[in-house]
Amino acid sequence: MNTIAPQTLDRMFDDRSARTHMDYDGACQTCGDRLRIAIDRLESGFGLLGGVLFEMPSGQILAQCARCYRRRRNSPEVDPRRVA
Ligand SMILES: [Zn+2]
Repeated sequence: MNTIAPQTLDRMFDDRSARTHMDYDGACQTCGDRLRIAIDRLESGFGLLGGVLFEMPSGQILAQCARCYRRRRNSPEVDPRRVA
């Protein structure tokens, strides 16, 4: 499971005829809480607020809330060199 690719976000903006901002409404795939992620298209890339989007090899988009994402990143099985 990879963090969503910029190309995929570009396509989502195009699909919604959004220029610089859109909201992703869904549920966290880990805890199931309702989740809204604010996504801004910036000159240098994308800014996501409120959660993280992942892309499955099948193309399916999954969302995870910031709380679950942090917990996962802080879990011992995560290689610390990959933690920003
Ligand atoms: Zn969650």
